[in-house]
Amino acid sequence: MSSKKEQYQVHWLTGQFCDASHELMYRRSIQESMRLEYSFALSVAALVFGMFAISDYYLLGLTSQFYLLLIMRIVVVSICLLVAFGVRRWGGHGYRVWLHALPLWILATGIILIVPLRPDSLSTQITAVVVATMAFYLLIPNLLTVVTVASLYLNIGFLAVALQFTDIAPMAALRIALLLIMANVVGFFALLRLESLQRKQFALLHEERDQNHQLHKEIAHRKSLEEQLRVVAERDALTNLNNRGHFMKLAQGLLQRSQSDRAPFSLFMIDVDHFKHINDTWGHSHGDRVLMRIAEVCAASLRPTDVIGRFGGEEFVAALPNTSPSDAQMVAERLKKKVAELSLTEEMSKHCPSVTIGVAAVNTEEDNLESLIKRADQMLYVGKRGGRNQVVVCHDDVEEGRCTGS
Ligand code: GH3
Ligand code: MG
Ligand code: MG
Repeated sequence: MSSKKEQYQVHWLTGQFCDASHELMYRRSIQESMRLEYSFALSVAALVFGMFAISDYYLLGLTSQFYLLLIMRIVVVSICLLVAFGVRRWGGHGYRVWLHALPLWILATGIILIVPLRPDSLSTQITAVVVATMAFYLLIPNLLTVVTVASLYLNIGFLAVALQFTDIAPMAALRIALLLIMANVVGFFALLRLESLQRKQFALLHEERDQNHQLHKEIAHRKSLEEQLRVVAERDALTNLNNRGHFMKLAQGLLQRSQSDRAPFSLFMIDVDHFKHINDTWGHSHGDRVLMRIAEVCAASLRPTDVIGRFGGEEFVAALPNTSPSDAQMVAERLKKKVAELSLTEEMSKHCPSVTIGVAAVNTEEDNLESLIKRADQMLYVGKRGGRNQVVVCHDDVEEGRCTGS
């Protein structure tokens, strides 16, 4: 946490992030708006600077000094407008700082050059320098160091040229110097405050974004844990079928709906034949694999609306809504055939797996899941006693008291 704070630390003197990569990231984030703002401010400043040609004309008339001033103003305005265009297209003070600094130096030079050409209007020019200094600081934010250097160049240059080309008294020069220092101090601290505030806001935004991201990750992780938990609670680990508890819940729902719709409902008890022999002959891991394959085949032989689960050991149970006993018998026969056709590993190729299936169907309103399971289990035993590898339907469910096998 403290390292994050250090990364977003703002330098007390430059108002920029101490960490260079964060400073670059911040500059990139405001690049687009900065381009527009900067090129607009520059264009306006250049045009105002150019408009002073009118006052030059009234002061100097059509003299050589006026023409010199006019040429200088045209050069400054043209360069500034060109740079303003360049900034709008390619600017980005994240990496092209010089492009932003250049017009400040040109404008400053232009203002300084007016002094020797119009030495008698010094008081107006002092005002112009103060206004330009404030404009540098306030209209061009986020480039404090660049602005400070350009502003110092303007102020020191202006004072030096004024001392050289005008006849101001030393006390007047001192007053001008103090005025300029004040303008710089006010501009500097206003921009410093603005810069550090903007960066602090940026840092807060990023921290919030990081926390949000973290929260989303946490939520996704929790959801995946919940899903894993649900799978563990509902699925059988070996066969990936519903476990007994979950099957009972699902089958109960299906049975209730069938009974309220007065629709047929059938139930299978499926038991793998001589499974102990498989375990004893090829080992438990082979036994497990056979169980998985049989589970796969059983699930694939049913409709998506049917529900199948592992009842325990090598026994499976299936609920078939909207299925009459005769249809259920057909499905069970198909399932038995598919199990018999299963191709096992090379070592077990001689073994032909088989299942015995007991089928029960709802025939009275009093029937419930337990009674159906009990009847299907009885049919399963009939099938086992009758030699295994067969389907036995309880014909109690169709016509009273007779059971058939296949
Ligand atoms: P029957 O034809 O009468 O059903 O004979 P069976 O051998 O299939 O039945 P029995 O009840 O005698 O044996 C079932 C065996 O299934 C015993 C048990 O060790 C084995 N078994 C139960 N669950 C698993 C399991 O998850 N993996 C493996 N490999 N074996 C299991
Ligand atoms: Mg069994
Ligand atoms: Mg068995």
